[in-house]
Amino acid sequence: MSEYDANVQTALDMAAARAATTLNMANLQEYLHGRAQNWQRRTDVVRVLSADAAFDKTEDNMTRAERFMRGQAMTRRLHELQNELGWTNDDIGLAMSVLDSPLPLTLHFQAFEPIFKLQASPTLLAEYGPLIATRGILGCYLQTELAHGTAWWIGAAGRTATHGVVQAQLVLPEGEDGSLEDHKPLPGIVLGDQGAPKSLGGFAATDNGFVRFDRVRVPLKNMLSRFARVTEEGDYVRPPHDKLGYGGYARTFCSDCLYLMYMLTRSPSHATAQPPPSLSVTPPVRRQGTRGPDGLERQVITYPSCTDGCSPSSPRIRVPSVANPAARLSAGDTSLLAELHATTAGLKVLTSSASIADVETARRSAGGHGFSAAAGLGRIYAEVLPSATYEGDNYVLDQQVVRAALKAYKALNSSANDLPPSSAYLQRLMDVNDGPPRIKFDSLGPDAVKLAPPLDNVIAQLNGVVALLEWRAALVVRELANNRKSLDVGSGFADADATRVARAVTDAFVAGRVADMARNMERDGLRAGDAAVVEQLLMLYLLTSAEAALPDLLAHGLLCGPGEVAGLRRAISALCAALVPHAIGLSDAFGFTDWELDSALGVYDGRVYEALWERAQREPLNEKEVTDAYEESIKWVLQNGQRRAAMHAAAKL
Ligand SMILES: Cc1cc2nc3c(=O)[nH]c(=O)nc-3n(C[C@H](O)[C@H](O)[C@H](O)COP(=O)(O)OP(=O)(O)OC[C@H]3O[C@@H](n4cnc5c(N)ncnc54)[C@H](O)[C@@H]3O)c2cc1C
Repeated sequence: MSEYDANVQTALDMAAARAATTLNMANLQEYLHGRAQNWQRRTDVVRVLSADAAFDKTEDNMTRAERFMRGQAMTRRLHELQNELGWTNDDIGLAMSVLDSPLPLTLHFQAFEPIFKLQASPTLLAEYGPLIATRGILGCYLQTELAHGTAWWIGAAGRTATHGVVQAQLVLPEGEDGSLEDHKPLPGIVLGDQGAPKSLGGFAATDNGFVRFDRVRVPLKNMLSRFARVTEEGDYVRPPHDKLGYGGYARTFCSDCLYLMYMLTRSPSHATAQPPPSLSVTPPVRRQGTRGPDGLERQVITYPSCTDGCSPSSPRIRVPSVANPAARLSAGDTSLLAELHATTAGLKVLTSSASIADVETARRSAGGHGFSAAAGLGRIYAEVLPSATYEGDNYVLDQQVVRAALKAYKALNSSANDLPPSSAYLQRLMDVNDGPPRIKFDSLGPDAVKLAPPLDNVIAQLNGVVALLEWRAALVVRELANNRKSLDVGSGFADADATRVARAVTDAFVAGRVADMARNMERDGLRAGDAAVVEQLLMLYLLTSAEAALPDLLAHGLLCGPGEVAGLRRAISALCAALVPHAIGLSDAFGFTDWELDSALGVYDGRVYEALWERAQREPLNEKEVTDAYEESIKWVLQNGQRRAAMHAAAKL
């Protein structure tokens, strides 16, 4: 059997995989990025960054301190580019989102500035607003405490920030302003980088730090007093709504946390969007195992571990977003607070958990290469892992989702008001003529969403699974409510229940939004052929959500026995198999460049072995053919072994 050139073959396999998809790339790219202008803007920014030496990614072997300095140099360069090219602040935000490591500046943009704008009085806003908008001052957000008076983990606080929004207990009353000339902290404030490297080398460019306050007085004018305030006489004036005031310490939900959770529901989805391109790219070109009649080994994407693992990750990338709450909150409109709280808390948990799990799925799908830094997956994992903890620990948020659900359930029995989207699933319990659906899962495979089907059919099929997930949420919430002595939302429940019930509630909410996405595809500009593939992805999303919910579905009789479960799994496998030809097309649609992915396994042309080889040559250990460790250690170990072997041999004679 003739040998084949693996380097040439990977490129051929990639070209073949790309040719297999029927997707219209331009159409999908615009759909995924919201609008054609968004996609164009992103392309322009990436082109500038990837050609600029400040954002070069070939320096893999930097120390933590070097990464911090590189992050600061990138921040400076972003602002130089803003001056040179007339970039807006949104362009800078966009540029930061495509860099390989979070910069300290992220905290300024995502936490300090929006919360300052939300909470500052008009006078304070007039004084600092322009400086904040131009980065004449650099901010951080101080909420997490190590012990009272000491903030810990604060991004950008260690060495970068000049100012911060501090969430602290109010102790009345005046202080002094600091200087921007020398970058030194005010008297009574001790700060620094918290030192210990973060797990897996994540957040290396960010100076997460400690800040200790010792009898520091905050001048009255510097209090964030748009809603709550202290008068000249030292009296505290409450905000119009408790949740709009200062948040107090970490676990208290407040409008600031709401805003941060909203930001987070957006950012992890970007991180999850990155692995599928690299994992979709590798499995089609990687060949392992027995040879077929063509003399080629089998493509790893045809192994179930890759097909069934990779495909469900793809539909999770496009999470439904919630309306940005900042505008209404800053106008003092609190009517949506409870609803936004329930949805953002649930979505934050869902997106961060799914991102973490999906990056690991991607890593495993790439075998040993997935563990190599050259794959780029470890870097993404390190950045996304703590998102389960910061800005609302997921366990704690689960409890808040469940509290909101129990409150909605309690209100269901006492009022006939329309249910908001976050608890629309409870309506199922009110429709006395409507029972849980019995679904023929085998009809939900790819045939249910063949090219250009009548849209109504597809929607009907999707709606069946949406109904199933809504019934599951309604029944588990009712069960929890019935098993509790009191429906007072303050009384405790087991954490295990909280995670399971919160997931059911969020799955039901997202399922409703998935159905909306399917309904609005034409309005959102997706052409029929592309829409059919996206519908398959949406169906796959719903079915894998149902599969993950099997214990609840079986416990509540929503699925009956092995036949229905097997049907559900057959439908999932069939959809995964149907989507394989589109794997490259779907990952191309995200439009990540080789520079952005920074992954030898994800190179656009498929020549992954060459890319891996080139990276290996950059390894400093390879600079000398014989390592210094040879003279220092290896030689001794070898000679010692040889001496002892000779002694054993002599003893045997
Ligand atoms: C990379 C990174 C960046 C960060 N950046 C910032 C920043 O810029 N500013 C900032 O203020 N903070 C920041 N943080 C801190 C982060 O917000 C906190 O770590 C997070 O809110 C959890 O708080 P904690 O560390 O005090 O954990 P703890 O509250 O001590 O939690 C420990 C454990 O107890 C559980 N637990 C706690 N309370 C409850 C409860 N009521 N019910 C059930 N279980 C509970 C938690 O689930 C967790 O498992 C950052 C953290 C990381 C990792």
